[in-house]
Amino acid sequence: MTDSDLMGIGFTSRRTRDRLVRRLADAGITDARVLDAIAETPRHIFVDEALAHRAYEDTALPIGHGQTISQPYVVARMTAALLEGGVPDAVLEIGTGCGYQTAILARLVPRVYSVERIAPLLDRARERMRRLRINNVHLKHADGTLGWPQKGPFGGILATAAPRSVPDALLEQLAPGGRLIIPVGEGEVQELVRVRRSADGFERERLEYVRFVPLLAGTLR
Ligand code: SAH
Repeated sequence: MTDSDLMGIGFTSRRTRDRLVRRLADAGITDARVLDAIAETPRHIFVDEALAHRAYEDTALPIGHGQTISQPYVVARMTAALLEGGVPDAVLEIGTGCGYQTAILARLVPRVYSVERIAPLLDRARERMRRLRINNVHLKHADGTLGWPQKGPFGGILATAAPRSVPDALLEQLAPGGRLIIPVGEGEVQELVRVRRSADGFERERLEYVRFVPLLAGTLR
């Protein structure tokens, strides 16, 4: 990969990326830190070359193994919801996928931990982090339903796959004052939820409706 691949040309240029950012701002994303991170991150690096020309559309795209790269609006919304109330020192992401959301987080918080159950997706994400010289991300092939207990507690946890109900392990690994952003539900459409851990328990707040792949137990080689 050359520098010009990273910078993008034509449909993958900085100008195309800025257009996406304006669209997200029009859609109600007001957090300038998040918009800047999206402007600075080449999304076309995270999809197949054959789909690169669609990388700056505000849409989810296939990344293989029946999985998708999240829609930019949803990445922005979740990231902003996570940062509201303060930048956490460490964030745990469940569902690395292609690593796009991971790369956005890496620009905004000091340390990012991300867990993926499908090994080939994780390998490719790891390669992309290297190419983009992102070195504050730690990746693990594991079932994210269990969180990453050795690295917690986390000031923020963000899940990009939907369980039927919030896994206890994720609540346990949330630091006091921490926020968990997670889609919850078993249908095609789920509710995006923010759970805050306070001194006396957990407060749950509904954000909006979203479409995510299901959070599945176990791992795949
Ligand atoms: N954050 C990704 C979204 C990928 S889609 C992005 O920005 O593109 C969700 C991902 O969650 C898929 O790669 C899927 O394999 C993964 N996933 C589903 N269940 C999981 C689990 N229990 N543990 C870890 N990853 C899981």
